[in-house]
Amino acid sequence: MSLADDLAAFLGPGRVKTDPLERHVYARDGGLRTGPVEVIVHPRTTAEVVEIVRTARNHGSPVVARGAGTGLASGAVPTGPAVLVVLTRMDEIHEVDEASRTAWVGPGLINLELSQHIAPLGLHYAPDPSSQSICTIGGNVATNAGGPHCLADGTTVAHVLGIELVTVDGEVVMLGGAAPDPIGLDLRGVVVGSEGTVGVVTRVLVRLTEDAPATRTLLLAFGDTADAAATVSDTVAAGVIPAALEMMDRVMVGLIENWIHAGFPTDAAGVLLAELAGHPAAVEAEAEMLSNIAKANGALSARLAADADEAARWWKGRKGAFGAVAQRAPDYYLHDTVVPRSRLVDILGRVHEIAERHDLEVMNVFHAGDGNLHPLMPFDAAEPGTLERVQAAADEIVTASVEAGGTLSGEHGIGLEKRDLMSLVFSPVDLDAQARLREAFDPVGLFNPDKVLPAGSRCFDYGRPAPAQ
Ligand SMILES: Cc1cc2nc3c(=O)[nH]c(=O)nc-3n(C[C@H](O)[C@H](O)[C@H](O)COP(=O)(O)OP(=O)(O)OC[C@H]3O[C@@H](n4cnc5c(N)ncnc54)[C@H](O)[C@@H]3O)c2cc1C
Repeated sequence: MSLADDLAAFLGPGRVKTDPLERHVYARDGGLRTGPVEVIVHPRTTAEVVEIVRTARNHGSPVVARGAGTGLASGAVPTGPAVLVVLTRMDEIHEVDEASRTAWVGPGLINLELSQHIAPLGLHYAPDPSSQSICTIGGNVATNAGGPHCLADGTTVAHVLGIELVTVDGEVVMLGGAAPDPIGLDLRGVVVGSEGTVGVVTRVLVRLTEDAPATRTLLLAFGDTADAAATVSDTVAAGVIPAALEMMDRVMVGLIENWIHAGFPTDAAGVLLAELAGHPAAVEAEAEMLSNIAKANGALSARLAADADEAARWWKGRKGAFGAVAQRAPDYYLHDTVVPRSRLVDILGRVHEIAERHDLEVMNVFHAGDGNLHPLMPFDAAEPGTLERVQAAADEIVTASVEAGGTLSGEHGIGLEKRDLMSLVFSPVDLDAQARLREAFDPVGLFNPDKVLPAGSRCFDYGRPAPAQ
């Protein structure tokens, strides 16, 4: 029997797709690359994922897990014919434990739906990627997703306590769990951020966060982006860690305003959106400190949101930024690098210089508080040669960020997009260690082959350890 027939034998024909239109739709994620998909399956249970993995392995076909396909590093795009396991139907909230502030959820659950579900309990799920209304918890775990509110609370890895994983042998293992200090190796930490290369995540135990008793949202406008960047580093240096601290430049603000009418000042060169959360007295004091730091750095204005509606409008503007770019061009390339906060000004200058040299427009909207840059280049892929220019500029921006003491990615992952740049930050020994760890989980290269680690990463033969004397 064919692979598709074998899969349909237990999933039924309705949840196994091979027609050209479906394969075309699933050949791409939020990134720029496409790849061949052999068959698409939609499991509903862990037991079905187990059968899928065993069947794919029997047929010698790789397995690529996929959530909502919003990833920007082409992590869910197969590099050769593969079984694409779409987890979106495993979207249950299995159990919420209000007392211990945890929840067991399916990997296909949409991030925002979890926070909406637990809102009546005064709780939320802290990692809030700007894509949170469409991306899945499983995809967030696999990419170690961040978001505007991860500055104070940490990225996904700080909020995942336990992971149910289907292994290469079709076994179900539980990594981590509810115990506050699990013993043994932290394999849960290996899976978070592994981009589907060590197994398929089928259930996740997440930490829930209590809503802050008070929040204040501040909008700071600057005549120069350097002043905005200086405010970011001065704020953290002063010991104030906002719940979120986001930056947008003039071009980005103009596009957002034209579309969402968030109420941002369009005459400013740079805008900071900050949220302070905590005890009411502390929040008031920190808001005042932040305003003073901004004014000392020449801010044109510092405005507190009048009420929750105004704050929500500002956040809607920030989170809708990428959609606003569609007004400019049919395609965009969104970069994701990290630089030390103290180098933000230099790097923003370099980004503009690189884009100009490649005859490309660039705009910025990013998680300034943790130095996570998102230069965004709108372009039209139908114009011959443009994609190549965009790619060349992208590689230069990544290199400049690394040279400034930063790294390749703050949250979107490596996938295919940055795989071949890994040697900018890792030595052959580092890459080999990662490849050996991956091999321990997946010795046959079943899961998401060709992703994350460049070819040749497994470069040393250590041989057998010498017997103890
Ligand atoms: C408009 C927009 C805004 C964004 N903003 C942010 C942001 O603020 N922060 C941020 O971090 N990202 C952001 N992203 C990127 C993206 O949304 C995140 O990377 C998200 O975590 C991907 O989730 P997904 O469900 O779409 O995963 P997919 O794109 O489907 O998959 C991503 C990776 O995870 C693997 N994977 C998915 N599910 C599983 C599973 N169950 N088991 C094992 N591996 C799995 C895939 O193989 C792939 O390697 C944004 C994207 C867009 C389009």
